[in-house]
Amino acid sequence: MQDRWKSALQNNYGTPSISLVKGSGALVWDADGKEYLDFLGGIATNILGHAHPEIVTAITNQANDLGHVSNLYAHPGAIELAEKLKALTGEASARVFFCNSGAEANEAALKLSRLIGRKKVISTIGSFHGRTMGALSLTGQIAKREPFLPLLKGVKFIPYNDLSAAKKAISKKVAMIIVEPIQGENGVVVPDLGYLKSLRKLTKKHGTLLALDCVQTGMGRTGDWFGFENEEIVPDIITLAKGLGGGLPLGAMIAIGDCANLFEPGSHGSTFGGNPIACASALAAIKVLERDNFLPRIKSLELNLKLEITKSPIVQSVRGSGLLLGIVLKNKVAKEFVSALQGEGVLANATSDSVIRLAPPLIITDSQIAAFVERFRKVATSYER
Ligand code: PLP
Repeated sequence: MQDRWKSALQNNYGTPSISLVKGSGALVWDADGKEYLDFLGGIATNILGHAHPEIVTAITNQANDLGHVSNLYAHPGAIELAEKLKALTGEASARVFFCNSGAEANEAALKLSRLIGRKKVISTIGSFHGRTMGALSLTGQIAKREPFLPLLKGVKFIPYNDLSAAKKAISKKVAMIIVEPIQGENGVVVPDLGYLKSLRKLTKKHGTLLALDCVQTGMGRTGDWFGFENEEIVPDIITLAKGLGGGLPLGAMIAIGDCANLFEPGSHGSTFGGNPIACASALAAIKVLERDNFLPRIKSLELNLKLEITKSPIVQSVRGSGLLLGIVLKNKVAKEFVSALQGEGVLANATSDSVIRLAPPLIITDSQIAAFVERFRKVATSYER
């Protein structure tokens, strides 16, 4: 598998150490038949895990009924999903633009912001908003930007969770501030409660759009539909992807209030955006999470995981919200720790030398959490000897 990967695929991801061939719920199996607990969930995408029967049925039925139609025609799935997302925001003015990924959702937000007649944007240091040139221009990570300079002009990066920096940087020339409710790729960095609320007040005062990138924190991941709900604010723009499609590629840029009507025919588009099969998958995922009341459980899973993981002396802290957690290790061994976890049949990933990220499916069971904790401890103990 590895030789075939190397000779057929570009090297931008490196060569993966295992090849996965089957999944069911929070379990996956590799080509040699080894079983893993999937605590990364396709990087926070598989909110219902793998091969969930209701997603399988929904996408099979949709594929049997109608495949791709483009945006020249309406279809019930996109309308129903847009209505559902709008209802989840609680805002009658919300309007949805569908695309295929997180980067595209943020590209759409960036283009929308230009239409208020301003060109400057504020983003945060350490942020991740995607790798296409517009989204990369918003991404506050030097290593990812450097090889591709020059990027878009007019983007200022300020420290995350620093309100006074935002106050200094903002002016009536700033079209948009884009910020993640939690910086996921940067190691699950959580801002102080009140930061987003203060940004909301500040942006309102200056007529600047507040875009909240919920690509990683949306769709129930934190125990709420959107990662900012603990702040009780209404942003102008919400971007979604990852969990939205229930495992299929789907992104959305939701605009609220005056900016919801800025796009006009010709402003923006995406051939595959709102694809019927992806929408059917998304609707099935949302239906299951709502019907079976999964979200209220997420907070208690978070507390339990934090409590159990922090018992290991190698762990400095566990940060994050809901089922998006960053385990901060006292030593810079996160990468080898993740390899050792993989050896014990657990998939997770290292966002840096000292942080391990967990983003299991939202349907993870109590016994799977217990199995994770046991295997985590086993690996942790080997570092404590
Ligand atoms: N925004 C955030 C907050 C993300 O975490 C990611 C991906 O990790 C993206 C945007 C980019 O999403 P995609 O990889 O689907 O383009």
